[in-house]
Amino acid sequence: RAKQARNAYHFHTEAMSQGMREQLLLENRLRQALDGEEFVLHYQPLIGADGQMAGCEALVRWQPADGPMVPPGQFIPLAEELGLIVPLGGWVLAEACRQGRIWLDAGQPPRVMAVNISARQFQHPDFVNTVRATLAASGFPPACLELELTESMLMEQVEQSIDTMCALKALGARLSIDDFGTGYSSLAYLKRFPIDKLKIDQSFVRGIGLERSDGEIITTIIAMARALGLQVLAEGVETAEQQAFLQQHGCQYYQGYLFCRPQPAPALEVWLAKRI
Ligand code: C2E
Ligand code: CA
Ligand code: CA
Ligand code: CA
Repeated sequence: RAKQARNAYHFHTEAMSQGMREQLLLENRLRQALDGEEFVLHYQPLIGADGQMAGCEALVRWQPADGPMVPPGQFIPLAEELGLIVPLGGWVLAEACRQGRIWLDAGQPPRVMAVNISARQFQHPDFVNTVRATLAASGFPPACLELELTESMLMEQVEQSIDTMCALKALGARLSIDDFGTGYSSLAYLKRFPIDKLKIDQSFVRGIGLERSDGEIITTIIAMARALGLQVLAEGVETAEQQAFLQQHGCQYYQGYLFCRPQPAPALEVWLAKRI
């Protein structure tokens, strides 16, 4: 009987698609990676209209001890599916605040530290408490922490989202909407959201000079941000032509390979020292 079961199991694994097996393997490795502290943060500068670094965005990478670095696109969706994004996101938040505090202690001026928050994290009942406790433990100034949210997560349960955002604002943190323009938030809601910044999705920036509609969407978002009293940042700026267009239309902040790729903290320090 045992043999039969074993055969059945064997048959089942044989029948499993290559893709499913890889998924299972990845799931196990991801769980181990969390225990084994195999994650690192890279930081990408946010550039002000004056050309100075106004802050940076923390972007997580998985660096297995015995393999090449894995970009977040390959494990964040799985971590979300498995609920592992809550502990992983908690680590990201703590690590970003820790690094931000180190830079302040080294004499750097206060700058924004932007951290990506996923829907599962934002909707978790302990989220506001986690942010409060992390700020307190790290000694990082709340006014320097910017939490990047997405339209889709905010629109899932709008009233509850507004309550959570207000609680985060009460802690003194800043809020931005990431990938703006790709979701479904309406102007009426946008007006009610206590946010500080819109981050224009890089897909629109990519179309500057190529797709007339992308340029029009960008100028509309910039005008809308201004009307609502929000800061506006363009993501994925890769060319001087894109920057010129954005500048001409009143964009205040930029982020992209044109200025700097995401880098580990020590490399970013070198980049910054060379610029000044
Ligand atoms: P995102 O939040 O929209 O982050 C911007 C992504 O664009 C980053 O990819 C960044 O490396 C890339 N990028 C920056 N400048 C340019 C550019 O000029 N051109 C192009 N083509 N790309 C540029 P990355 O680091 O691979 O991250 C991908 C996504 O993974 C992020 O998109 C974000 O949604 C997610 N992610 C990254 N770190 C975290 C995290 O700690 N927590 C959560 N929940 N999500 C994260
Ligand atoms: Ca982001
Ligand atoms: Ca984005
Ligand atoms: Ca994105």
